[in-house]
Amino acid sequence: MRVYVVGNIVVDETWSISDMPKKGTSIHGVKVSQDVGGKGANQAIILSRCGIDTRLIAATGNDSNGEWIRQQIKNEPLTLLPDGHFNQHSDTSIILNSADGDNAIITTTAAADTFSLDDIIPHMAEATAGDILLQQGNFSLDKTRALFQYAKTRGMTTVFNPSPVNPDFCHLWPLIDIAVVNESEAEQLQPYTVRSLVVTQGATGAWLIQAGQRQFCPAFPAEALDTTGAGDTFLAVMLASTILRGVAPDALALTHASKAAAITVSRRGTLSAFPDGHELTALLALKGEH
Ligand code: ATP
Repeated sequence: MRVYVVGNIVVDETWSISDMPKKGTSIHGVKVSQDVGGKGANQAIILSRCGIDTRLIAATGNDSNGEWIRQQIKNEPLTLLPDGHFNQHSDTSIILNSADGDNAIITTTAAADTFSLDDIIPHMAEATAGDILLQQGNFSLDKTRALFQYAKTRGMTTVFNPSPVNPDFCHLWPLIDIAVVNESEAEQLQPYTVRSLVVTQGATGAWLIQAGQRQFCPAFPAEALDTTGAGDTFLAVMLASTILRGVAPDALALTHASKAAAITVSRRGTLSAFPDGHELTALLALKGEH
């Protein structure tokens, strides 16, 4: 059983500045960190750290950032496809943190936008019935839909995390087996027809809604330093827990997910905040409720 994550991969650059720049001004800042990021990459990395056979299909560019990303991914138990690069700059997120605690984020999508179905589908040629296609919201409606349709023709299980949200994604629910959304995505996209639905509610916890029943799993208490990547950690560990036990999403999967997300929120950064393979293996071995 293999998970194909088709999505984006970016360089996250975090900059500390005294105040947000005004139009026409030039300011000094300090580059605090550089991390691999992007929802596709985040989820694929965590799945692979959980011991799941994972292929990340995502575009990197022909610049030094692309080279750096491909090098970083070699440290993970993950296959990144395609192996080469695109004739584009790699996608980048510039995260500006001002002294008063505010932040602003600038993200490019050129590499993800250039990545066509013809570039992607050959990398799914070995997919068999029961394999999983996991997508996030970084592609257009048409591209996202075409990939889920392709997955269905191959008998794959489809998992959708529609973030960043596009109101038109509500048309995709008939193609989806498992949806993971936060509260505002649930409100906008009304995913209640999906067979297994997980609605996360930040520090409160998450709901599992399936077979006409609702179960609540409280969040695991944590001293939150930086909640970036909490949702990605939650989704990936929830999915890994179900795959490793050969079950549909259940209360234990949500418990595993909330314990892992609590680790991520207690540390700063994205990739550097995620639980490592040892932490995830220990956590996924836990059988009881917290
Ligand atoms: P993000 O986009 O920031 O990654 P999200 O909006 O997709 O997150 P959330 O609902 O904020 O997802 O969080 C997902 C899960 O992470 C929650 O269900 C919870 O288990 C955990 N979590 C989030 N914030 C906290 C917190 N402050 N303390 C403990 N757990 C948290």
